[in-house]
Amino acid sequence: MKRKRESVTDRYTLADLENWQKATRDVDPPIRLGVFGDPVAHSLSPQMQNAALKYSKIDMQYARFHIRANELSPALHALTKLDFIGVNLTLPHKMAAANHIDEVDESARRLGAVNTLKIDNGKLRGFDTDGRGFSRAIREEFSVDLRDLRVMVLGAGGAGHAIAMQCAMESCERLVTVNRTFEKAKQLAAELQEFFTGPKVLGPVPRLQAVPWEETAIRFQIANVDLIVNATPLGLNPGDPSPISARLLAPHLMVYDTTYSDKRTPFVSAAMEAGARAANGLSMLLHQGARAFEIWFGREAPLDVMRAAL
Ligand code: NAP
Repeated sequence: MKRKRESVTDRYTLADLENWQKATRDVDPPIRLGVFGDPVAHSLSPQMQNAALKYSKIDMQYARFHIRANELSPALHALTKLDFIGVNLTLPHKMAAANHIDEVDESARRLGAVNTLKIDNGKLRGFDTDGRGFSRAIREEFSVDLRDLRVMVLGAGGAGHAIAMQCAMESCERLVTVNRTFEKAKQLAAELQEFFTGPKVLGPVPRLQAVPWEETAIRFQIANVDLIVNATPLGLNPGDPSPISARLLAPHLMVYDTTYSDKRTPFVSAAMEAGARAANGLSMLLHQGARAFEIWFGREAPLDVMRAAL
């Protein structure tokens, strides 16, 4: 019988996972990795991870799974009965997954979110690789470590949490959380308070601060930060505005937009207009994926191959 090589654009569902032998009868090499999400069609992880698997001569494939919020529990249950190495989790599963797994690593536990699962003897182990991926991306894009930066994070959802937590764990010089719903920015700052009790003092501004999403507050903070990170979805949809307009930005800044697209994102465009350095979220995607590969296989990820695939 002719065997079909799985295309990375294929998409599986919970029903497929529950009837896996039948759903993947003709697939070779076997699918033993994937990403669960809703929506998931846009995910670039399959092309990046499949390139890494092929280059590393690991005879398996990585696929997309359209799993809805209410399907996560049965999907994870099905996974433990199959011959999977692990999966990545994206929206809306990152927070919810924490309730379904057997063991979490330190960063995922602190965050209460999981974006990478490894299956060991039928047990689910959870990790967060977004934080480390972000840190590596900043080093690659701007040749600087988080510990030397004053950082402002826009957004206090899953990505904003992971990024702010990473900045805190790496002892960044200063952290400002900003969110449309101010309460969440305050809550995030409160969760990170314990990391900012040390002796680093930076003149008149506090090392850790939550500010509302308002022009005056942001304008004041901009003079006292080096790196601004967009961790909101602003930039994903055509016509989205820049989260901060070019006239508020300044040439001393580094701007990192966690969103990415084929074109320049509005935030990156605004930064360049203001003479600031800027990068989009592809490097974070790359490095969080590389970290996931390392967790699954206990070996270094082929970064250049993965980068080229993106
Ligand atoms: P999330 O948990 O849904 O959080 C969304 C955040 O954005 C919330 O803080 C929300 O504020 C804010 N927000 C939403 N719409 C907004 C708007 N119109 N104006 C201002 N703020 C708005 O989502 P997430 O998981 O954090 O993901 C956020 C983005 O991060 C994603 O869209 C994705 O592009 C990016 N991301 C990139 C990578 C990567 O590897 N590059 C990895 C993870 C995430 P409220 O609290 O007020 O609702």
